[in-house]
Amino acid sequence: MFSKILVANRAEIALRVIRAARELGIKTVAVYSESDKTSLHAVLADEKICIGPGRASDSYLNIANILSAAEITQADAIHPGYGFLAENPRFAEICEASGITFIGPPASIIKLMGNKSEARQEMKKAKVPIIPGSDMIVDAMPEAKKIAKKMGYPIILKAAAGGGGRGMRIARSPSQLEEQFTMAQNEAKAAFNDASLYIEKYLLNARHIEIQVVADKKGNVIALGERECSIQRKHQKLIEETPSPFVDERLRRKLLKAAEDAAKHVGYESLGTFEFLVDEKGRFYFMEANTRVQVEHPVTEEAYGLDLIKEQIKIAAGEKLSIPDGLRMRGHTIECRVNAEDPATFAPSPGTIDFLVFPGGPGIRVDSAAYQGWRIPSDYDSLIAKVVAHAPKRHLAIKKMQAAIEMTAIVGIKTNLPLHLAILADSEFLNGDYDTQFMERFLAKNGSPQ
Ligand code: ADP
Repeated sequence: MFSKILVANRAEIALRVIRAARELGIKTVAVYSESDKTSLHAVLADEKICIGPGRASDSYLNIANILSAAEITQADAIHPGYGFLAENPRFAEICEASGITFIGPPASIIKLMGNKSEARQEMKKAKVPIIPGSDMIVDAMPEAKKIAKKMGYPIILKAAAGGGGRGMRIARSPSQLEEQFTMAQNEAKAAFNDASLYIEKYLLNARHIEIQVVADKKGNVIALGERECSIQRKHQKLIEETPSPFVDERLRRKLLKAAEDAAKHVGYESLGTFEFLVDEKGRFYFMEANTRVQVEHPVTEEAYGLDLIKEQIKIAAGEKLSIPDGLRMRGHTIECRVNAEDPATFAPSPGTIDFLVFPGGPGIRVDSAAYQGWRIPSDYDSLIAKVVAHAPKRHLAIKKMQAAIEMTAIVGIKTNLPLHLAILADSEFLNGDYDTQFMERFLAKNGSPQ
């Protein structure tokens, strides 16, 4: 087992990894930027080391500085968390070349899945259904028009290197395609330094349902039950739950098999998530695979009574998968992502938290690095807490979550707590009869609750 893990991340996920490592008896090193001097991950790790200025490109994305920190502190493994360098194959490669274990899949798998267009083709080979679309990168307008015409509008242009809900544009007609194509290329180039686009049929009234996969280095793969992630705004998830109100046992078995086949086909290792779009008829299509821990992993942990991060660390150290085959999920679990943002504009709302009370009690879990008096830096994303509620039935989990959100107080900054409360009381949400367009309908109907 490792003796020291450097956590190449910040805030709640860094803290989550530190907790898991501590339970396993492993020492931790936090890296932090100048704007994160007072961040909890830096305070609670066994050692800490500053890796540069606040701007992510100068610190959390600075491979040389992170590797130096690992060498100085003699860490034998690096956990990348999510975001930042978590899906950067070069980083994984450099870690391995420096004799430091990268806690994640091998660089070759990160690379394969990181190009979403290539990942689609690989899934096709594994006989996993993919969304109808272009077989390859489309770099000229005439070709884009030809493909779109054949498939039928609406279509979605996607950056092959995309992620985090960015680099996607929908076109509903040939003239819109003309408008969007160059813009999408420019956006992709600016965000990912890669202008490559591919095209997919844009599926209306579909659900985003994803499957958690855990695989060890010995070829053992397990696919755990689904996470329903259709409550999203601008392709960014807001609320996740399991089981999905839409998925019956038959569909679940098919989804699990598809994810397991996909993972086995590419020789997957570590934690990973296979994301699918599921249409009204229950037909499902592979969308992408994320080769890291997901923000919403606690949903699966609470549903199965597991610690996925500990499992991930043990697998990276060469241990055999310890999750028993046939383990069943219990009850119902929901997660709300609490963001520091202005409810009116959805713009980030950094600042100092003057007063903070988080909910508690049976069945409530809060993953957060926020504390009273903490000044939230403006350099990073706006997620400040994940509130997770677990109960025997969906309606009870919703009630529990409503009470938990009502009993959360975050003073000094603006948050999306009022939005969560309004969604939790919405009839469409309560019926479980929603899709990825839910938030558009919800905001058109209610505006943004403040
Ligand atoms: P990212 O990696 O940036 O998160 P994804 O490919 O996972 O991008 O897509 C994010 C979201 O965008 C999905 O959850 C879904 O709501 C929407 N989306 C993506 N592709 C399609 C599609 N072909 N049709 C309909 N919606 C889509």
